[in-house]
Amino acid sequence: MPQTGPIILRVAVPTPLRRTFDYIFPENLLKELDGDLPLPGSRVAIEFGRRTLVALIIEVTDSSDIALEKIKPINDILDSSPILSPDLLKLFVWAANYYQYPIGEALFTALPALLRKGEATELPTVKHWRVSELGLSAETESLDRAPRQKALLQFLKDKTSAVPESDLTGLFSATIRNQVEAKGLIESFLAQHEPQPSSDELLQQENLTLDPQQQVAMDAIELHGFSCNLIEGVTGSGKTEIYLQAIEKVLRYNRQALVLIPEISLTPQTEKRFTDRFNTPIVTLHSGMTDKQRLEAWIKAKTGEAKIILGTRSAIFTGFDDLGLIILDEEHDSSYKQQDGFKYSARDLAVIRAQREDIPVILGSATPSLESLNNCIEGRYQHLTLTQRANNATAPSWRVIDLKTEATSCGIAQSTLDAIQQRLDAQQQVLVFLNRRGYAPALVCHSCGWSADCPKCDSKLTFHRARGRLICHHCDYQQRKPHHCPSCNSKDIMTAGEGTEQSEEFLAKRFPNNEVIRIDRDSTRRKGAMQEFFATADSGKPCILLGTQMLAKGHHFENVTLVVILDADSGLMSADFRSHERIGQLLIQVAGRSGRGKLKGEVIVQTHQPEHPVLDQLFNQGYRPLALQLLQQRQQGMLPPCRPLAVIRAESTYPNQAMELLGLARKLCDQQRGTEPDIQCLGPLPALMEKRAGRFRFILQVTASQRAQLQRCLSAVATQLDKEKLAQKVRWSIDVDPQEL
Ligand code: ADP
Ligand code: ZN
Ligand code: ZN
Repeated sequence: MPQTGPIILRVAVPTPLRRTFDYIFPENLLKELDGDLPLPGSRVAIEFGRRTLVALIIEVTDSSDIALEKIKPINDILDSSPILSPDLLKLFVWAANYYQYPIGEALFTALPALLRKGEATELPTVKHWRVSELGLSAETESLDRAPRQKALLQFLKDKTSAVPESDLTGLFSATIRNQVEAKGLIESFLAQHEPQPSSDELLQQENLTLDPQQQVAMDAIELHGFSCNLIEGVTGSGKTEIYLQAIEKVLRYNRQALVLIPEISLTPQTEKRFTDRFNTPIVTLHSGMTDKQRLEAWIKAKTGEAKIILGTRSAIFTGFDDLGLIILDEEHDSSYKQQDGFKYSARDLAVIRAQREDIPVILGSATPSLESLNNCIEGRYQHLTLTQRANNATAPSWRVIDLKTEATSCGIAQSTLDAIQQRLDAQQQVLVFLNRRGYAPALVCHSCGWSADCPKCDSKLTFHRARGRLICHHCDYQQRKPHHCPSCNSKDIMTAGEGTEQSEEFLAKRFPNNEVIRIDRDSTRRKGAMQEFFATADSGKPCILLGTQMLAKGHHFENVTLVVILDADSGLMSADFRSHERIGQLLIQVAGRSGRGKLKGEVIVQTHQPEHPVLDQLFNQGYRPLALQLLQQRQQGMLPPCRPLAVIRAESTYPNQAMELLGLARKLCDQQRGTEPDIQCLGPLPALMEKRAGRFRFILQVTASQRAQLQRCLSAVATQLDKEKLAQKVRWSIDVDPQEL
């Protein structure tokens, strides 16, 4: 572009508007860039309305649809070089278009908060000390008469690299440091970060020798250029070992690796396996970090200082110096899809990113999503399977208990209790899974049938005994537990069903000699609760680990030999089209915690419907046959992944308004059929939970045989809806590839 014309910056601004804005880059700012043109991916400060905002340059051009004299100049350019590489910027633009989300908001919600606020992208500098040239040749004896000074010189001489001042402060006073510095024997300098470990050994722990199945998988993964690999490996089959060895290879080409996992705080063991293996800087990125920590981690990835980045969903948007591999563990996990705001799927973006950056991606799971299985069947992904557990551990055996024919106490069958007793007697650990927190999922009146419902949602209130309250798990509405039935005034109100709080109480009474540790969102609210839990579980001492799906995630406890699934039926009833896939995945994942060590494991499943086709197939044939069958049903039902789906959601305290908006959306979709003949709509329909938090929720399903038609239709409809008055009153959004209806 010639420098003679105006320099127009097309910038993304954090607003809900689905467009970019043009600003002029004033000549006087050129000197800040040493005469260079500003580059896309750099931040600028602009006047927007009456506010000053940080915006990001998407494009630099020399013409605009707006008259030049009307275009405002930017106030300032904040980066001398772009914070986003061209590749990453394109990924953002692609994702904003694909997920029908305003680019400005997409960028600014996915980047570290401090970047949005205009914070510099350099790490703070730290004062370091080292021995000077003179000091290197000087003998420490020359300081014999100043023993502290001599000790300092010797201390620094013993180090192979410079030492941050903070390492010296407790040992040597500032006076001593200054005296030795004045003699020219040591020197200080500012460095951006602490020096890296001096050892050149990449591995600080040896690789395991891969078993034949692992070796086949490892050999099949091409680490140069783009490839997408799905490792379908049963729980405990050693997928992580393959990740570690693939990462090692990539690090040896001096490139970086991005590892995505569903939830870091729940799986400290995973993090530890990476830090134990590699003698290289690893940073983690997750929601529990402060803004400052996040920014620092982000910068370390961007500058290449960190070689391995371990993060949750949003880490897919990290900038890298030279990314060479993406790994996404537990790829079926629904937490990879953001459920509100910018509704992206980190799994799908991982594949897109790998493709654009021409690098390999490895997806791993014991229970792959139907999406990924379908991609394997259609030849887009390489399908690698591990059918055996590594480390000579064997697969656990299943025992199904029919609750229709067995009496229970607190929802636990006698034969289940016996089995637990046996394992505890044999000094082993038992994991009891119940996906319902609280004391009881319902409170009912024995006289009239009244039940405690949430006034704001279509749901029952859960009784939490420790807090003495009824709580809605959907909107957090709370009230005191009534003493009398509000409907008939009877005193005869009682709980129905069991939650983890009640099971904990029961198990503790039933097995008084063993510890019962409960793990759910309530019990882990206390700081340190998770650590205590892991400490006990890892100690191997006989105990009962009781919890919700927080227990299903990738944990490896050697001494757990029995897993009890108290209620396999919850989840079977849901009308969501993914519910059977979900329950299959959850049950297999929970079961996979059993018998991972030397001892063979068992899984006890309690159900009222042992003949249910999903459970029957799962227990008798396993996950893959179930998944293939469910895939066939999706094919017949023209549902994802066999056909692309988007939903337009609307919610309002006035149900009519939400319905009306979606009616309008439907009309707009129907109009699109002139150019996109394959568009089909279903709805507007009430959402699966119609009323939540006082709002009435509706959905419109939109599908097409071709993805491109769906995408064009959605963006046309979004643009038109934006102009509607009603769209300002009703909360609405578009969800592409929704996880739930
Ligand atoms: P997954 O990630 O598939 O659940 P892991 O990688 O956690 O499986 O492996 C399960 C256990 O088997 C771990 O304790 C791991 O150290 C061990 N393991 C994995 N691969 C091997 C191997 N090749 N030889 C010996 N032990 C292995
Ligand atoms: Zn009553
Ligand atoms: Zn509620």
